[in-house]
Amino acid sequence: MGIRVLKDKTIVLGVSGSIAAYKAVEVASRLVQAGARVEVAMSEAATKLVAPLTFQAITHRPVVTDLFDPQGELGIDHVALARRADLLLIAPATAHLLARMAHGLADDAVTTTFLATQAPVVVAPAMESHMWQHPATQRNLETLRGWGVTVIEPEVGRLASGAVGVGRMAEPPTIVDTVRWVLGRSGALSGYRVVVTAGPTLEPIDPVRYISNHSSGRMGYALARAARDRGAAVILVSGPTALEPPVGVDFRAVTTAREMLEAVVDAVRDAHALIMAAAVADYRPTRAAEQKIKKGEGGLSLQLSRNPDILAEVVARYADRTPPLISIGFAAETENLVENARAKLKRKGLDLIVANPVPATFGAEGTQVTLIDREGNVEPWPPLSKEELTERIVDRLVERLHQARS
Ligand code: C5P
Repeated sequence: MGIRVLKDKTIVLGVSGSIAAYKAVEVASRLVQAGARVEVAMSEAATKLVAPLTFQAITHRPVVTDLFDPQGELGIDHVALARRADLLLIAPATAHLLARMAHGLADDAVTTTFLATQAPVVVAPAMESHMWQHPATQRNLETLRGWGVTVIEPEVGRLASGAVGVGRMAEPPTIVDTVRWVLGRSGALSGYRVVVTAGPTLEPIDPVRYISNHSSGRMGYALARAARDRGAAVILVSGPTALEPPVGVDFRAVTTAREMLEAVVDAVRDAHALIMAAAVADYRPTRAAEQKIKKGEGGLSLQLSRNPDILAEVVARYADRTPPLISIGFAAETENLVENARAKLKRKGLDLIVANPVPATFGAEGTQVTLIDREGNVEPWPPLSKEELTERIVDRLVERLHQARS
């Protein structure tokens, strides 16, 4: 298990003295679980809020707290940590720490690492609203952004003071997602534009009712993240889901199949690849009632019309383009998996189709699919986690895109 872009990467986590330091513990834990090596450096104030031992227990590594500890590695060579880092993440970053960074001060382990590292830097500020809004803080952030530092905007919510306002540190999943995005920038898909669709479409019957398909959207969102983790510029066109849009992705929300078609046609215009993971409703009520339909004693018949086949239409429309549009579809089948999927690949003119047996895979953690390509190869894959499955699909996309270029 793990997340490929984080595997065996060294993330130096700088922690400064905001009460949000307790959330940095969860950030460290998530990074470690995803396969990263995490090395923690704490400011003195941070050690008053969370014990270094807490981070040490989670990361299985010594925690640097004192620049002048003769026993510590930093005491001998204070750039060792900075050099090892694949990425420096500072979470939480207080107003004071941002100010010290913006002015090049190097008076503790965190600021020294910042000055000494060549690695990309991500900061997650946390502070009281007025401190965040103060021109001094905003100017310091501008300075840091100008040097290429990625700033994860704080959220609006309850602050340590009890007041509600902007300044809460972003949540750990958002921070980890940002780290993935930044680490992946120079990956194999850097310079490529990839469109991914996800989730169901909803087709209104009246203002309160609709018909739809089962779809959590998790596969499409995971694919969007995996492509982004390799450096692709990703547009995610999504029907309604309960998921957070991935960081660093151009997110376009739609509701109906016809809206999705319009959004995909627009997104694909200068894209290199389209991955259609959405569960598009094949039919829509021919006329959506303007008012809520009153229920009577008897039944109710709905007249349905066919929705456009988005994938088939888009692939046909861009068929003669150079470079070609690489297209990947999904086939959710309850029977005759391979035959049905192969027929779909042909009919829609796809490069690859991922055939998955339903309903077994709905919302499931792990799934077993069969991959079929344009050349006729049929590959049953072993059961894989959604993360690993999406990484392998993106591996195939990388191969196809690189072939198309050469
Ligand atoms: O024909 P079927 O719905 O089984 O094909 C599934 C594939 O086609 C999926 O990739 C799905 O996203 C796409 N599709 C589409 N437009 C539709 C129906 C399905 O793009 N109206």
